[in-house]
Amino acid sequence: MPTKNAAAPFDFVDLIRAKRDGQSLSDAAIDWLIGAYSRGQLPDEQLSALLMAIYFRGLSQGELATWTSAMVASGSRLDLSGLARPTVDKHSTGGVGDKVSLILAPLVAACGAAVPQLSGRGLGHTGGTLDKLESIPGWRSELTSDEIHHQLEEVGCVICAAGRDLAPADRKLYALRDVTATVESIPLISASIMSKKIAEGTASLVLDVKVGSGAFMTETSRAAELARTMVGLGREHGLRVVALLTAMDAPLGRAVGNALEVAEAVEVLSGGGPADLVEVTLALAREMLDLAGLGGVDPAEALRDGSALERFRAMVVAQGGDPDAALARAAVVDEVVADRSGYLARLDARAVGVASWRLGAGRARKEDPVSLSAGVICRVKPGDAVVAGQTLLELHAEDDSRIAGARASLVDAFDVAESPPANPPVVLERIV
Ligand code: URA
Repeated sequence: MPTKNAAAPFDFVDLIRAKRDGQSLSDAAIDWLIGAYSRGQLPDEQLSALLMAIYFRGLSQGELATWTSAMVASGSRLDLSGLARPTVDKHSTGGVGDKVSLILAPLVAACGAAVPQLSGRGLGHTGGTLDKLESIPGWRSELTSDEIHHQLEEVGCVICAAGRDLAPADRKLYALRDVTATVESIPLISASIMSKKIAEGTASLVLDVKVGSGAFMTETSRAAELARTMVGLGREHGLRVVALLTAMDAPLGRAVGNALEVAEAVEVLSGGGPADLVEVTLALAREMLDLAGLGGVDPAEALRDGSALERFRAMVVAQGGDPDAALARAAVVDEVVADRSGYLARLDARAVGVASWRLGAGRARKEDPVSLSAGVICRVKPGDAVVAGQTLLELHAEDDSRIAGARASLVDAFDVAESPPANPPVVLERIV
């Protein structure tokens, strides 16, 4: 039976079969299939079969570069080349309590670079940068390309929603991967992330690849492979790219949840905040400044002297927000207490992320609303001494009905031991 549409330059069944059998796809075939799928001209069932074949067979370096370019070409690309400042962005693969972007964008802007952070919303147990910033009254995430340009010139940083025209092929492919168990493919993840960053127009990029129980990648070797693939892909597309592998076994900082994380980000911008969060933020800031040619500037000084906080406030104001407005507060605060004395030996990031999500801070489906005030405050961090009866975690929710589910997810979330645990590094590896 003929399977080729008379008007199509390729027989899609032949392409699926070729990939299934471990052969390479030509550049022309990849360009055609990504373009045709984005335009709605190829059926989901055939793309699904191809994605599964890629999941098992992978993509060669050349195929991956072409796949990524085709995803970029499916939409428009921001041109930031005319900006007076060097552009540099950061992407995190996502973790629990990861509010680093909120601090990093104004911090690196205060040091002289322009940071275009085109971000997304949270799904599942990790939060989204836009959801967090939306807890600031008035703040808006949707900006036009002209507004992004203008804000980068005037303020030096912008955190906003990635427009629908930025690598639109990724949106369709990601939705299909999500329902076909093909998300966890290193080439497909790399193409997905890097196509959006290339289309965003930044000249340099630092990748924060999280490793551990609360991360997308739980094994260091897989995380390193993902980082190497993304760094290589960025280079092939003319970006300066460095990746750091950073620990995500425990939540980053103390706060998990939208408004709670904004408050903690402001604490760091004011020169305080938890040590692990400050350490990761400064490590990423130094990499960003190096790539931007501003390696001589000390980002720690911008936290101390108030200039990073001042950039944050200017960014919020430029996007309609009131940096002085009170953040949402939960109506209900419950506590998880230690049942013995000792040292907190483990606090599982994923369990805390799931608890925060069950308290209302996250969403299960893209269209679900999120609670701004819900989340978890980790009153102790791994390594801290605890006494029986001491509060370990605060659970914040809009109503009592959320508490039981959150508590259930925390049953096996921590260990109290007799001696303090080893102090593991926060930055695990640097990949260039
Ligand atoms: N984040 C993305 O943007 N894409 C993926 O495929 C996985 C995580």
